[in-house]
Amino acid sequence: MERSPDAWRRRAREFADQELRPLLADPPDLRPDGPLRQRLRRAELFGLGQPVEWGGGGESTETVAAVLEEIARVDPATAVLLSVHLSVCAYPIARWGTEAQKRQWLRPLLTGQMLGAFALTEPEAGSDAAALQSRYRFTGGRFTLTGAKTFISNGDSADLLLTFATHDPALGRRGISAFLVPRRTGGVVVVRHLEKLGLDRSETTELRFDDLELPPDRLLGPEGEGLGIALNSLVGGRIGIAACALGVARAALDELETAARTDPSDVKLLAVARSFSELEAAAALVQEAARRRDRQEPFAPYASAAKLAASRAALRIAHRAFDAWAEPTGERASRAGRLLRDARVFPIVEGTSEIQERILGRERLRPARPG
Ligand SMILES: Cc1cc2nc3c(=O)[nH]c(=O)nc-3n(C[C@H](O)[C@H](O)[C@H](O)COP(=O)(O)OP(=O)(O)OC[C@H]3O[C@@H](n4cnc5c(N)ncnc54)[C@H](O)[C@@H]3O)c2cc1C
Repeated sequence: MERSPDAWRRRAREFADQELRPLLADPPDLRPDGPLRQRLRRAELFGLGQPVEWGGGGESTETVAAVLEEIARVDPATAVLLSVHLSVCAYPIARWGTEAQKRQWLRPLLTGQMLGAFALTEPEAGSDAAALQSRYRFTGGRFTLTGAKTFISNGDSADLLLTFATHDPALGRRGISAFLVPRRTGGVVVVRHLEKLGLDRSETTELRFDDLELPPDRLLGPEGEGLGIALNSLVGGRIGIAACALGVARAALDELETAARTDPSDVKLLAVARSFSELEAAAALVQEAARRRDRQEPFAPYASAAKLAASRAALRIAHRAFDAWAEPTGERASRAGRLLRDARVFPIVEGTSEIQERILGRERLRPARPG
């Protein structure tokens, strides 16, 4: 059933309050393979914004952003899980996959039978993804992958990893191809789960490919175009991550306003005013980026600006909310502290703030096209 962004937002808010919030009391329930999965599936969130013909809901990017924001307001880890699944695993398969690949992988992803992950980052290749070292070779009619990946969200619980490897690092980006890897295949090793300062309920893993063998139909898109697939998917993904950051910013503003009402002061009044204006400015940018994408207009600079503004707003507002609770050990202060730790991730994932500034600066200074 088609719903407007506002109708979906209301529905997502209800879902977050009624279905997610109760799970927060028992963190194991929030593991991606526990009750959380069934609830997200029942709410048809695994196919949000994805092609209807493959089991998705076909909603607009604006709607997807509104839903992620509402979920992040209650549980940012679940919002990030969904954003990764939708934007950088399902979307690239919908765009670059063959009919057979869509039948085999996309449909189960969109109906929630499978959870997706995106495995690009390596210990020595983060912002500079073209420097990745994971290798593949093609012999005897099969691809063989070796290498290490790190900071992979959903990396253990996912059923499908979209990953990237080069057949010759000397070729730079032209050597890199994209592969569809069933997570529970011999040769995929979960080295460890990483502990983080914040967003600790989000699963972040280090993986290794030990002579992982794949049939030829696991190549996604043309050979040598893997980095383009990754970077292109990340542009859209940034709107999703920006929406997650907005959700944290809204939760932090709620905390700050509660503190300002409980124990009013001029400092808190000003903090509320600053936070509100930063939040709404970031929200307008997220919406603009999403609408431009929906109208199929160039949106990359807006996605970068939205992620910069929303992640900055989340950190600053959470900081103010934390400061506003004078008693650092109380329940409210601990909630604000959690938001502050959670907010720290958004200037890093799917391209750091410095990388967004580079993209944005380059875009703005590009020579004007004739006409
Ligand atoms: C919680 C979490 C979840 C993640 N999930 C995933 C995932 O699911 N899949 C995945 O593939 N990756 C994931 N990542 C990895 C993330 O995308 C990288 O951490 C990010 O791209 C930065 O890479 P890096 O950590 O290697 O930092 P580096 O690239 O080493 O950067 C270190 C610092 O240098 C700055 N810097 C680097 N290059 C430049 C430059 N050219 N100009 C100016 N400044 C620069 C950066 O901004 C940063 O401040 C995740 C990370 C985190 C923390």
